Amino acid sequence: MKDAVSAALRERVRSRAYGVCEYCLIHQRQAWYSHQIDHIISRKHGGRTTFDNLALACGICNNAKGSDLGSLTRRQAVLIRFYHPRNDRWAEHFRLNDDGVIDPITEIGEVTCRIFGFNARERLLERRALLRAGDFPSIEALALMRE
Ligand SMILES: [Zn+2]
Repeated sequence: MKDAVSAALRERVRSRAYGVCEYCLIHQRQAWYSHQIDHIISRKHGGRTTFDNLALACGICNNAKGSDLGSLTRRQAVLIRFYHPRNDRWAEHFRLNDDGVIDPITEIGEVTCRIFGFNARERLLERRALLRAGDFPSIEALALMRE
């Protein structure tokens, strides 16, 4: 395939993210399916297969995002882009509450949280179980959040 992600590039992306989904922060070892390589700006919209345009995403986040770049805010129906793992800092757009809920704190956070389904029931139950086990956020996710 013309624009395929090479094994070496995949490994660099995985390594940069410490094996953590760069959107919902679940670690690869905590997920049922292998994390995927996401084109932050999808190829459909001209995004290239370059290190800076790739992110590590869990299957749920990647499927929910699809080729979308953003969505409309609930209140004013204004088009807002999604969280961009290369240009944005996670903690500036989201807050992880003690009960496992990921709360958006910006409009970028709001559209990302809603479209990606961060707080869907099953995902919240899983996150709460990991919280109780003391494994969320993982040490790798904390490192990612600090960058
Ligand atoms: Zn995810």
